[in-house]
Amino acid sequence: MMKSLISRFFQNKKKEKVVEVRIIPHFEHNISRDNISENAVKVLYRLKKSGYQAYLVGGGVRDLLLGREPKDFDIATDAHPEDVKRAFRNCRLIGRRFRLAHVHFGQEIIEVATFRSMQGAVKTGDRQTENGMLVRDNVYGTIEEDALRRDFTINALYYSIEDFSVIDYADGLNDLEEGVLRLLGDPETRFREDPVRMLRAVRFAAKLGFNIDPLCEEQLSEIGDLLQSVPAARLFEEVLKLFISGVALRSFEKLRHYGLFGELFPDTEECLAHEEHAFPITFVVHGMKNTDTRIREGKSVTPAFLFAVLLWEPVRLFANELRARGEPLLSSMQQAGNEVLMEQLQHVSIPKRFSLPMREIWNLQHRFEQRLGKRPHRLLAHPKFRAAYDFLCLRAESGETDIELAEWWTRFQEVSGEARDAMANSFKGTGNGKKCRRRRRKPRTRPIDSN
Ligand code: ATP
Ligand code: MG
Repeated sequence: MMKSLISRFFQNKKKEKVVEVRIIPHFEHNISRDNISENAVKVLYRLKKSGYQAYLVGGGVRDLLLGREPKDFDIATDAHPEDVKRAFRNCRLIGRRFRLAHVHFGQEIIEVATFRSMQGAVKTGDRQTENGMLVRDNVYGTIEEDALRRDFTINALYYSIEDFSVIDYADGLNDLEEGVLRLLGDPETRFREDPVRMLRAVRFAAKLGFNIDPLCEEQLSEIGDLLQSVPAARLFEEVLKLFISGVALRSFEKLRHYGLFGELFPDTEECLAHEEHAFPITFVVHGMKNTDTRIREGKSVTPAFLFAVLLWEPVRLFANELRARGEPLLSSMQQAGNEVLMEQLQHVSIPKRFSLPMREIWNLQHRFEQRLGKRPHRLLAHPKFRAAYDFLCLRAESGETDIELAEWWTRFQEVSGEARDAMANSFKGTGNGKKCRRRRRKPRTRPIDSN
């Protein structure tokens, strides 16, 4: 791809490492300012005019070099967050563990990060917990240092607004060409510093179709349990990125392959491990495929529906168990939903604005069975009918409930007036339900989110 590369070597301040830097001049790579968001270009130029260094970095450079459309544009600079705030009226500083400047342009946010130093991270023990996790990362450094503390080699490429060259500090171009996802530095140390990097590895591998370097892969299976020490609120954000990126199914399969899914959704993983006739795997797989299709078609995907799918199996089994003990239908579902949610929140948090509609989707399921008289009309008028109906269709497609039930409801929506009344008045009811055991887990403690 890029032939005549300008190479030079540099030594970091402690003279520990010699790193080869490759500089690819603007006429030898495919990044053009036309493909960068106008707002990101504005921020780059404003920083430059204010006397600072400014680079596009991370996914923006990586995806443009791959000919893909970047999800967002991240900028790295030697300006400190307060300097960035002074330079932009529309700027907010966020994060404690990792202080960042967000420059707002309507819906678009351009993230500006000050060059970080790895040296401080190693030297100052108070920034790391016992298992090697970085709790603060706000020691500023040079661009060379900043490059080395990034996660993957392909994420450590910098596009300069000064001369439009691409600077490669970590042999990222080579890995980009070979389709390899390689952590910078020792994989175990880097995963311990921030276990979320394990989820990022899976996400990028799924999104780009890259192979994870075997040394990193080994660690994924070895120390996946470190995810338990990550604040549940941060994991919520990462789970969303994994499943609302258009490659939910591939991400789900990879997470399971590396044993990471169980660290995020232990109750669901336990159910998946005891599958009967490929259900519930089929159900989650259908849910993930459905999410990917919606994203491809430009339709919205709500986290409420996504989490309803991911947690349905433990909820369903527990509700059936309660039913078998004589609990009424709705109360079984409510109790089961409550229990499963309480336990899940210790691993991955789900904000109330999503958990409430998620529970409504579950609670409405039994009402689809009631197809006589006024009841189906009332259900149809329910504000959450559409989501609950989509959920019913998924259950039917994966064989968990009768396909006839979903078809009846499809027809019921299609017809109107007398035909609809006739359907409701002529219906003869059915019921279903399986008994299953559900093992209880011990609650665990987790740190308060420090972000
Ligand atoms: P995308 O935006 O497409 O999800 P990205 O690589 O841009 O991918 P961001 O989360 O936007 O990911 O982060 C921007 C850059 O910041 C990354 O490319 C990487 O260089 C650095 N980075 C982000 N998170 C981490 C982390 N946990 N550890 C080290 N570096 C990170
Ligand atoms: Mg990004």
